[in-house]
This record gives sequence, C-alpha cells and structure tokens, in this order.
Amino acid sequence: MSGAYYKGFDGLSDSEERRIVLVGKTGVGKSAAGNTILGREAFESELSPCSQTAECHKAKGSVDSRRVAVIDTPGLFDTNFTQEEVLRRIKMCISLSAPGPHAFLVVLQLGRFTQEEKDTIKMIQITFGEEAAGYTMVLFTHGDQLRKQTIEGYVAESPDLKALIRTCYNRYHVFNNEVKDPDQVSQLLDKIDKMAMANGGRYYTNEMFLKAEEAIQKEKVRLLKEMEEQRQKELSALRAKVGEGSTYRREERLVYKRYETRARKQAERSNDFIAAPAILLSATCGAAVGGIIGIAGGPIGIAVGVAAGAAVGAAVGALSVQISERCNVQ
Ligand code: GDP
Ligand code: MG
Repeated sequence: MSGAYYKGFDGLSDSEERRIVLVGKTGVGKSAAGNTILGREAFESELSPCSQTAECHKAKGSVDSRRVAVIDTPGLFDTNFTQEEVLRRIKMCISLSAPGPHAFLVVLQLGRFTQEEKDTIKMIQITFGEEAAGYTMVLFTHGDQLRKQTIEGYVAESPDLKALIRTCYNRYHVFNNEVKDPDQVSQLLDKIDKMAMANGGRYYTNEMFLKAEEAIQKEKVRLLKEMEEQRQKELSALRAKVGEGSTYRREERLVYKRYETRARKQAERSNDFIAAPAILLSATCGAAVGGIIGIAGGPIGIAVGVAAGAAVGAAVGALSVQISERCNVQ
C-alpha cells in the first residue's frame, strides 16, 4: 500500500484547525515566532519593554493549506506579577485555546537559558496538567545566531538543555524570525502533525479546558440571540437585492457563518470561565488552580500553591453538590 494511504491516519486533516500555544519568558520572541508561523504581522513584536504583550492574543491563518490558530501569550510564568494577574492571563490563555491545544510551544531564545527557563515545562505541567508534556515542543528563536553551528550541535553542548528537551520527548525546532523562510514553518507544522499523530490525532484537554469550552458555547448562544435582529435585517436587505433563489441561500449560509465566527471570537474573550474567581475554579480543579496561584510566587510558591489549592479545592468541593466534577489534574 502506498505511503500516501497512511497520511493523516490517526493524524490531523488539513481542514482541522491546529491550535498552537506559545509560552515562554517575555522577550524571547514568542510574538515574532507567531508572525513567522502565520506569515504576517499578526502580533506585535518589539524589543521595547513598553510594547510588551500584556494580554493573550489569538490569530488564525492558513499555512501550507493547513488551518492554524496561534495563541500568543504574555510571559505567563514571569514572576513579577500578582497572583490575580497571573491567573487572569492563564484563564484567558485556556479560553482562547479551548477545547484544548494541539501543541504547546515552549519558546527559548538561543544563548539564553536560565533557571526560570528550566522550570518552564514543569510550570506547564502544573498549570495545564502532567500529560501536557506529551503535547509540548521546544521552539528556539534567534536561529540566525547559529551561523555555522547546527541546532543539534548546540543542544548537544548543554546537558541542562538536553534534559529539558528530553522532558518533551526530544522534540524541538529552530526559527530565525528575521527571515521569511516558509520552509522553517512547514517543518515545524510537520513536527506538530507528527506529535499529534503520536497523540492519536487528539488535542490536549482537561477539566479546565472543557469548562472553558462550555462557558464559551453558552456565551456564544447568548450573543447569537443578541445579534439575531441585526442578522435578520441583513438577510432582508439581501433578499431585497438578490431575491429568494440559490444566490440567496448561498449568501445566507455565509452570513450565518460570519455571525457564528464573530460570536465565537467574542465569547472566547468574555465568558463565565474567565469571570470565575479563583475560589470557584478551585472547586473543580483545586490542585491545578493552586499551582497557578503558586506560580505567581515563584518556584517555592508552586509547592505551597498546589497544596493550598488542593486544600481550597477540597473544602469548596465538599460543599459543592458537583463533587464528581472535580478534575483530576494534580
Ligand atoms: P516576546 O516578548 O516573547 O513576544 O518577544 P518578541 O516577539 O516581542 O521579540 C523580542 C525581540 O526579539 C524583538 O526585537 C524581535 O525582533 C527579536 N527577535 C525575535 N526573534 C528573533 C530571531 O529569530 N532573530 C533575531 N535576530 N531577533 C529576533
Ligand atoms: Mg510578545
């Protein structure tokens, strides 16, 4: 049988959206990498500290005829923010990548590898769940610094880097964001597809992503109801212009799709999951939220946070009638 027969088996079809989340410290080149992936200036990428990304952003595109959604995050695990701020950012990141991402890209800048960077994958596991490592890949930026050296040679020189890469099953890739080279993007997407294949074509999800998705769907329905009058007006104008024939039916579908897309986009940024205070999330995802809260306090805070989160989760959970809904992220 030809190899082509197997292409896409247990993997992703071109029409399936690949949700890619970029995480890493501020200034390493996450936004620039997002722009390289999408082949356009979708995200603001600058050296100036004033223009740092303070919010999570999402942009979509078609790359190599594959549908891609990139979620660009501010330094989620930067330690100089309040717990409230860290939690707010993480909730937005979860909501924008719901029902779950196909890939977490840990963005590292070549030549810059500190303790905080060493902790990143652990942070991802604490925040998003242990199994998230199976969906994680390291993406090096500043590939232009390699000059004559290969990325394999560079990685081989650092035992710490090798150890970090090993925790995500030796998956890594390098970008030079200074050049518009579509090959580096195709190769990254091939590696992501290969990773998805190893995961049975599934994206990563857990109770938190599912809760976010539920809240998005609910908000989307509400928004579509709110927009209904406006949509009907648009359809009446269309009918007046083209009549009731096949053109109308085709256009009607497009109008509906446009409203759906707009409602989804809006709902992802504002919904009950995002609005929920930490204590409520703790009721279902105690340890995970505790971990997130702990992250704001740095590596020591994580351990404390996980313990506190589990305790808060247990306490609130005991009062809740939905104990069965407690998530198993530890
Ligand atoms: P973020 O905070 O992680 O989103 O980082 P940015 O995308 O804003 O990038 C920070 C700075 O690094 C910007 O000045 C980028 O132009 C620069 N940069 C990012 N990637 C590369 C790269 O591959 N090579 C070089 N030379 N500069 C890069
Ligand atoms: Mg940025």
